[in-house]
Amino acid sequence: MNIVGHFINGQRVEDNGRSQDVFNPATGRVVRQVALADSDRVESAIQAASAAFPAWRNTPPLKRARIMFRFKQLLEEHVGEISALITEEHGKVLDDAQGEVGRGIENVEYACYVPELLKGEHSKDVGPNIDSWSEFQSLGVVAGITPFNFPAMVPLWMYPMAIACGNSFVLKPSERDPSTAMLVAQLFQEAGLPDGVLNVVNGDKVAVDALLTSPQIKAVSFVGSTNIAEYVYATGTENGKRVQALGGAKNHAVVMPDADLDSAVNAMMGAAYGSCGERCMAISVVVAVGNEVGDALVEKLSDAVRNLKVGPGTDTSNDMGPLVTSQHLEKVQNYVGIGVDEGADLVIDGRDLKVPGHEDGFFMGGCLFDNVKPQMRIYQEEIFGPVLCVVRADSLESAMQLIDEHEYGNGTCIFTRDGEAARYFSDNIDVGMVGINVPLPVPVAYHSFGGFKRSLFGDLSAYGPDAVRFYTKRKTVTQRWPEGGARDKAQYSFPSN
Ligand code: NAD
Repeated sequence: MNIVGHFINGQRVEDNGRSQDVFNPATGRVVRQVALADSDRVESAIQAASAAFPAWRNTPPLKRARIMFRFKQLLEEHVGEISALITEEHGKVLDDAQGEVGRGIENVEYACYVPELLKGEHSKDVGPNIDSWSEFQSLGVVAGITPFNFPAMVPLWMYPMAIACGNSFVLKPSERDPSTAMLVAQLFQEAGLPDGVLNVVNGDKVAVDALLTSPQIKAVSFVGSTNIAEYVYATGTENGKRVQALGGAKNHAVVMPDADLDSAVNAMMGAAYGSCGERCMAISVVVAVGNEVGDALVEKLSDAVRNLKVGPGTDTSNDMGPLVTSQHLEKVQNYVGIGVDEGADLVIDGRDLKVPGHEDGFFMGGCLFDNVKPQMRIYQEEIFGPVLCVVRADSLESAMQLIDEHEYGNGTCIFTRDGEAARYFSDNIDVGMVGINVPLPVPVAYHSFGGFKRSLFGDLSAYGPDAVRFYTKRKTVTQRWPEGGARDKAQYSFPSN
C-alpha cells in the first residue's frame, strides 16, 4: 500500500518505520498509510532547514515575494486537485474544501506584500548626528504543527509568511489527512523555493516532541485542541522558544428578540453543521434571548436540521459529509448520549443515520438539543461534530455572562437589528473574534486570527500583521557619524537628549 512519507530538502522521502492508516471517511476504507517520523527523521528535516536558512535569509524580500506570486498562481491552478485530496481524506464537501483552499491562498497573497511589511521604522536625528532604526529580522528555523480539520488552510496560515520573512520551516501536519500538505509543499518547490526552506515531516507526538525540544527550532506555531495547545506552549517555552498555540472553542451565537430569524437560522445552519461541525469557528451554542425567540428558533432549526442532506463530500449537492474517523464519530455520538443523560431535550437525533451505498462511512446526521444548561458537559466541552445546543437566556447581559464565563473565547456572534446592542456586545464580550450578523467571523488574511482565554496560548495571533511580528525579531540600530571627525570626551552619565 502507498505510504505518505516526508518532504525534506526538496525531495519526497520514503520511510519504512512506524506508520498508521489513513481513511477515506466517506467509505470507511483505508486509502493509504502515513509514515510516523522518529526523532532522527525530524532531525534530518531540521538540518535541511538550518542549511537552507543563511542563503534564504539573505535573499532580498522582493525576490522572496516573486516566488510567493508564482506559488499563489500554482495553487490557483491546482485548486481542484488539492480540494479532491482534502475531500478524500477529511470528508468535507468538495466546494467547502475549495473554499478552504481559497482562504489559504489569501494568506499567500498577503505574504506577497512582504517587502512592504518588512520596511521597518526609521527616525532621523534622534540626537546630534544620530539616526536610529528598527528592522525586523528573521528568526531561523521555525516549526508548524497543524490539525486535521483544515489540512490546506491552517498550514498556509503559517509557512507562507514565516518563509516570506526569511525563515526556513518544518511543518508537521495532522496524521489523519497528510496528503494535502505534501502536494502543496511540492507546488511551493515548483514555484522556485530553494531546497530545504520548507520541509514536511509526517508523524505524531514523537515528531512533535522532537520539534519542541530541538535547540535549532526558534519558534513554534501550533493549532489544535486545547490540552495539546497548552502542552505545546509549556514545552516549547520551557525549551526557550517563542510559541503561539491556538486551541479549541465553543462558539456562541446570541439571537436577540429583534433579529431577522430566517436569516439567523440560515446563517446558523451553515455555521453549526457545515464541515460536519469540525471547525474551530463553528457555532456550537445558540443563546436565545427570551423564550419567544427560543421557541421560534428551535422550531425553524428543527425543520432545517431534519432536511440536512448528508452524504459523501464528492457530491456537492450534500450539505454535510462524514466525520473524520470512526473514533471521532463514536466520540461525538457519545456526547449526544451524555446530553440526553444530563437532561437536555434532544429535539433531533441524527446518531443512527445511514447513507445508502456508504454504510461503512463515518456518517451521522445533525443533532439539535434544546434547554441545555451551563453545568452540562455538552455545554462546557468542545464536541467538534454536528451537534447544536440551544440555551435560553432572559437578557443580553445574562447571555454575555454565559459567554464570558466559558473557558473558551475563540469566536462569537450576535444576530440583531439593534446597533446599540451590537456595539455593546462587541465592545465588552471576552472573546477574540466577534461577528455582528456574521456567523463565522474568521478574519481576512490581512487581519489576524486568534481567540481569548483557553483558545490561545501566547501573545500574538495567527496570520496577518501579527504573523509578521511572530516570525521576526526586532533589532534596533543607533548610528552616529560625527561631523568633521570630531572626537568625543569620555562621558560617565547616562546619555540623554
Ligand atoms: P489535535 O490537538 O488532536 O492535533 C493537532 C496536532 O497535534 C496534530 O498535528 C497532532 O499530530 C498533534 N498531537 C496530537 N496529540 C498530541 C500529543 N499528545 N502530543 C503532541 N502532539 C500531539 O487536534 P485535531 O483533532 O487534529 O484538530 C481539532 C482541534 O483543533 C479542535 O479542538 C479545534 O477546535 C482545534 N482547532 C483550533 C483552531 C484555532 O484556530 N483555534 C483551528 C482549527 C482547529
